[in-house]
Amino acid sequence: MRSNSISEIANALRKGDDFLLTTHVHPDGDGIGAETALALGLKQLKKTVMVVNSDPIPSNYCFLPLEGLFRDRVPKHAYFSCAVALECSEPERLGKLQETFRGIETIINIDHHPGNTWFGDYNYVRTEACAVGEQVYDILKTMKVRIDPGMAACIYTSILTDTGSFSYSNTTWRTHEIVEDLIKLGANPTDIYQAVYESNSPGKIQLLGEILSTLSFSPDKRVAWVTMTRKAFKDTHTSYEDAEGMINYARSIKTVDIAISFTELNSGKVKVSFRSKTHEQDVNKLAALFNGGGHTRASGCVIDDTLENTKKQVLERVLLFMKKSVK
Ligand code: 5GP
Ligand code: MN
Repeated sequence: MRSNSISEIANALRKGDDFLLTTHVHPDGDGIGAETALALGLKQLKKTVMVVNSDPIPSNYCFLPLEGLFRDRVPKHAYFSCAVALECSEPERLGKLQETFRGIETIINIDHHPGNTWFGDYNYVRTEACAVGEQVYDILKTMKVRIDPGMAACIYTSILTDTGSFSYSNTTWRTHEIVEDLIKLGANPTDIYQAVYESNSPGKIQLLGEILSTLSFSPDKRVAWVTMTRKAFKDTHTSYEDAEGMINYARSIKTVDIAISFTELNSGKVKVSFRSKTHEQDVNKLAALFNGGGHTRASGCVIDDTLENTKKQVLERVLLFMKKSVK
């Protein structure tokens, strides 16, 4: 399958009038930044735009200029000529929005995941983009939209969060070139960093303590995992959103090649996240074994089983996987 060119995407967006924008379930900084920047850009072009996500926006992203764009759910008789999915590798990632998308004539799929299933009428899939925010930046430039300080902050947030503060292997000269432009356009790195990473509730740091006390290792210490139970969330008055980034503590250990987090969801299912430090350990393949997906070094899946069973089956597969790729 061929990705549409950026001018084809720009033309498709120019043609539409009434837009519905969304990102994946449990939205993250990239998805939220990308959808908000694109929504503001389309509004500048006098389009009607509504953004609806399957799950709420974590509080650390509420500093972005979201006002007047977002709705909790799709209104009953709303009409959209065009729907845009940002950072969704497959329709299932749309969550509750999947049904609404089925009834909309033109679907535009903008994503950077290698496993994208090309589910749109237009597909703009660029795995080399560090964040979907980068793709939205390119689209807005192509459409000659004026990027205001609010939009610049959105795209900066996308890139900041998806590159692990400019540290992951997806960080390139191009990332920094775009970020240079975003700062010139009014994005403030200090304010954004503080809003995203230094606005934690006391409970979130207590949760970190609970989670770190679950840290476990494979015998060779190349695999480390943490477990987040519903009880831990309850005891610290936190929720799933507060667990974002906790897996990085397991990955930060020198001997660790693969870090895993097991999170008990309210639904009773278990969310499993994988992180890898080296290119040889392709955790996208690991997540795929459990019907999930993602990138080479960051992936995830949801398993409909108890925490105990999930840990058992996933760890077994991971240790087998590691054996096959002995250093
Ligand atoms: P996280 O572990 O932070 O939720 O996600 C890491 C990466 O894996 C992201 O790129 C995300 O899109 C992908 N990912 C996480 N969970 C799932 C899932 O259940 N299905 C798929 N296809 N991808 C996932
Ligand atoms: Mn992303």
